[in-house]
Amino acid sequence: MTSIPRLDVFDFAAHGRDAQGSVPVAALPRLAESLREPTGALNYEYRGHCDAQRRPAGTLRLRGKVVLTCDRCNGPLTHEPATEQGFFFVRDEHELEALPVDPEAQADPLVGSTSFDLAALVEDEAILALPMSPRHARCQAGAAPTLAVEPAPHPFAALAALKRRG
Ligand SMILES: [Zn+2]
Repeated sequence: MTSIPRLDVFDFAAHGRDAQGSVPVAALPRLAESLREPTGALNYEYRGHCDAQRRPAGTLRLRGKVVLTCDRCNGPLTHEPATEQGFFFVRDEHELEALPVDPEAQADPLVGSTSFDLAALVEDEAILALPMSPRHARCQAGAAPTLAVEPAPHPFAALAALKRRG
């Protein structure tokens, strides 16, 4: 059950069509598994175009809000994925395998379809966008893993102390 429709990526590319919408995280089970809780939603925007080599192509942008678990304090951590990835499409697996490996490439090759599973691509990209080791700013390396965070000394207080000494 997902609100993301299948689409004809070749038609989208040829006519520069786009599709956008919002999908609840709960409708993306593989993503939901990676999260602390299956709440929140992702906004997606897919735009078809032809790339510089006249190949059918597309760009997928994702925005949203999900809840992860902090690696350090195990508390809930709100993460706002914001990604944009380009793709170009080939007709079948043989064509995909025949592509030269290009580590500089900005766009990822995919096997296209007239009934392309955009929901699966949205889910893949959302999972790839998750941080490997999510941490609160206050839980970055070096900070103590305590819940009570000591306030940092105010910079002006330090300055005032210096002035008094001088
Ligand atoms: Zn934390």
